[in-house]
Amino acid sequence: MRRKLIAGNWKMNKNFSETRDLLLKIKNGLNTDILNKIDVLVCPSFVNLTIANDTLIDSSINLGGQNIYQEDEGAYTGEISAKMLKSVGCKYVILGHSERRQYFSESNETVNLKVKKALENSLTPIVCVGETLIQREKEMHFKTIEEQVSKCLKGFSAEEILKIVIAYEPVWAIGTGKTASPEQANEMHIFIRNVIGNLFTKDIAGKIIILYGGSMNDKNSKELLHMSDIDGGLIGGASLKSESFINIINSAL
Ligand code: PEP
Repeated sequence: MRRKLIAGNWKMNKNFSETRDLLLKIKNGLNTDILNKIDVLVCPSFVNLTIANDTLIDSSINLGGQNIYQEDEGAYTGEISAKMLKSVGCKYVILGHSERRQYFSESNETVNLKVKKALENSLTPIVCVGETLIQREKEMHFKTIEEQVSKCLKGFSAEEILKIVIAYEPVWAIGTGKTASPEQANEMHIFIRNVIGNLFTKDIAGKIIILYGGSMNDKNSKELLHMSDIDGGLIGGASLKSESFINIINSAL
């Protein structure tokens, strides 16, 4: 039985006090019982991870980063290591988000190196894959996702694969208000599971957590989150308001 994971990607939003205030509202607004049944994760900006960790000290809401660099340490001005995220209480890290691929030229090969580094440091990588609108219109979406999944997961053992979370985020649905229909999203999740089944084993494919991301909100989350192969959500815009994020979490049960 796969446990649901609801993750908030705050991107480049919220300053120090806004981070603390939003987390307090989320923490206080969540029924503690739900955290026994569902994994909840927030990924604020790097500079606010410490205040986030302090604010969540007595909570089982998890903390994650939005990226890492693929080296341990050294002369990489402006970069952040997996070890640094670990040291401020992170358990997860989002890798290969389409905005990183689009604006910072991240390739599947780079994502693969970052996944390796995250695992070495006991961080759970959330590996984002997704096709563009043009790729979907040209009916290249399955081929695109197969390539992203196999390249990003290249070289890992069966044991390691089970420590990785995949997020299917169609690029045309991110921040656009356009959501994949529950059927469209589920179809791709089943496809990703089959790709993993072919690369590894059917047993692993049945156990791996696959999130959907792309304009998920508290109006559409229930239907998406109850599809057979959707194990949770990676949520951008709707995770920046406590009410909508809490509603989405509650709708996952
Ligand atoms: C995201 O950034 O991962 C995302 C899904 O954003 P939004 O929910 O705003 O589309």
